[in-house]
Amino acid sequence: MIMDIDWFKLINDSMGHVSGDELLVALAERLKQFTSRRDILSRFAGDEFVFLFASKGHDLKNKLPEIIERLDRVFHDPFSLGKRKIRISASKGIAMYPKDGETFLDLLKNADAAMYHAKHQKPGSYAFYTQTLQYSLIEEMETEQNLIDALTQKEFELYYQPSIHLPSGRAIGVEALIRWRRPHYGLIAPNKFIHIAERTGLIEPIGNWVLKQACKDFLRWPNDGILLDYISSNVSSVQLQNPNFVQTVKQTLEITGMEPHHLELEITETAFIEDFQGSLDKLKEIRELGVRVAVDDFGTGYASLKYLKELPADSIKIDRLFVKDLPDNQNDVAIVSSLVTLTNNLKLGLIAEGIETEAQRLYLLNAGIKMAQGFLMSRPLPETELLTYLAENHISNEVQQISGLQTKA
Ligand code: C2E
Ligand code: MG
Ligand code: MG
Repeated sequence: MIMDIDWFKLINDSMGHVSGDELLVALAERLKQFTSRRDILSRFAGDEFVFLFASKGHDLKNKLPEIIERLDRVFHDPFSLGKRKIRISASKGIAMYPKDGETFLDLLKNADAAMYHAKHQKPGSYAFYTQTLQYSLIEEMETEQNLIDALTQKEFELYYQPSIHLPSGRAIGVEALIRWRRPHYGLIAPNKFIHIAERTGLIEPIGNWVLKQACKDFLRWPNDGILLDYISSNVSSVQLQNPNFVQTVKQTLEITGMEPHHLELEITETAFIEDFQGSLDKLKEIRELGVRVAVDDFGTGYASLKYLKELPADSIKIDRLFVKDLPDNQNDVAIVSSLVTLTNNLKLGLIAEGIETEAQRLYLLNAGIKMAQGFLMSRPLPETELLTYLAENHISNEVQQISGLQTKA
């Protein structure tokens, strides 16, 4: 088992290295009490301790819950450092001989991978090594490195999925969806890298690039006779939490010359749960700029009526989860028809995501849903293909205005 103290760097940086050393000594003392005579305990490096448990594999697996519990007790009481008392935690990774490695180095490497995984899941927890863990970690670390270069190498592209006005069957807006054209890998979907970009902070420059590129593209399309009502861009919770977020949006509008009412930002409902009031304030400011706000993946997070009432949003997007089993699933039927009534009364727009079948389209149309996206009408398309699609399938801006189709004046 390899054990790594959580936030040790922070302790060193804030309290000084002498205190850091004192803490390591005090912890080592406690760990010595914890290990039995047959086990081997070592301080391996920095804030890492390695344990070799002498029990046989299956014995050990049975005993481990108890071992972990005893180990947790080591961290229960605070440590005294000078006048201060601090509580710490440590993340643990476990690899078993011979299943997870035949040599010490293999076991160590795999326990380390498990520890790294535990730390990411929840500092202070523990994890066992598994084969898939190793692959996903290697993949993740490689991706992280390559993401850093992807922006400067211009490897990101925007695909666009039309939003269709169901009664007329025509597109009145599009959603920008990022793709990564990674050398030797091909086109990579956002769910393979966005979470890594969020964790590393790279989502900020990436998200800013998306926003700017989407505006620039949108402003070029009138040259091809395409005048859409809006373009939408997905915004990560990490971007929303940045104190400068509103300023960034404002700057993007200024730099590109984009009119605010043509821009929509999609925010997932989980994004503003962490800092509800702060997010609310920012979304209000965004809407004061004239930019629209849509709640994405509605129903998959912490949807509650309370927040729906207070939410500074123009529309909500029902997640595909509630659409995919329509029209047969009676629960989904009930949810969708309730949402139509609710959003009508709250004067919110409603968009259905992920329509794949004609039966779904018909059902939603009859249920009173005006706007939808889905593979049935169009997949996300690269810009040139989008323009071909729109040339035949969109409603011009004037017609939208005359017929009152625009979701917001
Ligand atoms: P989302 O914003 O909810 O986007 C809808 C996703 O559903 C897209 O996947 C789209 O291709 C897919 N989709 C649309 N219609 C259908 C359908 O009929 N059936 C099925 N099965 N799927 C459909 P995509 O492009 O892979 O994007 C996945 C998610 O990644 C997005 O979900 C969004 O949360 C995130 N994302 C995409 N681009 C960006 C970006 O620029 N910034 C951030 N922060 N997130 C992004
Ligand atoms: Mg979206
Ligand atoms: Mg969605």
